[in-house]
Amino acid sequence: MADYYEILGVSRDAPSEEIKKTFRRLARESHPDANPGDADAEARFRQYAEAYEVLSDPNKRARYDRGDAVDFGDLFSGLGSFDGLLRSVFGDGGVFGGARRAAEPRGRDIRVRLEVDLEEAAFGSVHDVEFRAAVACDTCRGSGARPGSHSETCGTCGGAGQVRVARRSMLGSVMTVTACGTCGGAGQVIPDPCETCEGAGVTEAVKSVSVEVPQGVAQGTRLRLNGDGEAGARGAPGGDLYVDMVVLPNELFDRQGDDLVYTLDLGIAQATLGAKADVPLLGGGVERVGVKPGTQPGEVLRLKGEGVGHLGRRGRGDLFVRVNVDVPTSLSAAEREMLRRFAEARGEQISD
Ligand code: ZN
Repeated sequence: MADYYEILGVSRDAPSEEIKKTFRRLARESHPDANPGDADAEARFRQYAEAYEVLSDPNKRARYDRGDAVDFGDLFSGLGSFDGLLRSVFGDGGVFGGARRAAEPRGRDIRVRLEVDLEEAAFGSVHDVEFRAAVACDTCRGSGARPGSHSETCGTCGGAGQVRVARRSMLGSVMTVTACGTCGGAGQVIPDPCETCEGAGVTEAVKSVSVEVPQGVAQGTRLRLNGDGEAGARGAPGGDLYVDMVVLPNELFDRQGDDLVYTLDLGIAQATLGAKADVPLLGGGVERVGVKPGTQPGEVLRLKGEGVGHLGRRGRGDLFVRVNVDVPTSLSAAEREMLRRFAEARGEQISD
């Protein structure tokens, strides 16, 4: 007997929701309507449907799992049961129903890049982005109909945008749903099209969108603005605008997640004797920090809450101050003499 789990590519303990989702995908891919004249696809489609028919029914699945002999011979003997199966999975719209109709007139998605500096990324900012895209036609306000005229309900499909047709296949006669050829699935026809857009309802133009960048975005963060992409044809929903963030490097701070690292340069006397030092803060201003006597190179101080804002929640990361001790490379004669005496006092051997 065929391994229905293997056919659908799911594990034996897959929950029913997963089985349904998997079957929906496989059925769309292999449906005879999507593969006209492809007998292999039709055979696969039938296999998927058979596997789904069994695994989607808790009783049949339990019997199948036990290895009981089940006679599936008359599984799809009646047209009604097969049609009913598809309808229970896809709804009245059919395999391609709602999805295809909604997908066509909706505007295309647009992707843009937006460069911000570290401060803008850390605290959030607002930017205008511009791109060429389809926008609603000014003349007809997106309707596609010449001003003063109106679109009309399509006579072929009665406004449904879809027609049901009986197809002959190896499964017998199967009702399938396709987009109406007269109105292209829109459900409406335009007897007197707008001259500017020739009935499309959209024209191409430079579109400007104000993008609110939230605090905490990083290199590669993608923002999605629903409906701000291309306008849909004849008043259909617009596509989405995707904004890929580019965060420019900063001279003072290294970013590590929501934390920042600043390198504080100290002289050898400061590190040895202790000092007060000003650490710059992101966004302006400084914080005076105390450096303990005997601070070693590489030691790290932490300024809580002075890092980058957390994305999607309150608060900020921290600012880590990493100490670097500068060893002087050029000395005056007097400085050299002092250091020599210092080395003598410490018993340190130095070159002449
Ligand atoms: Zn127009």
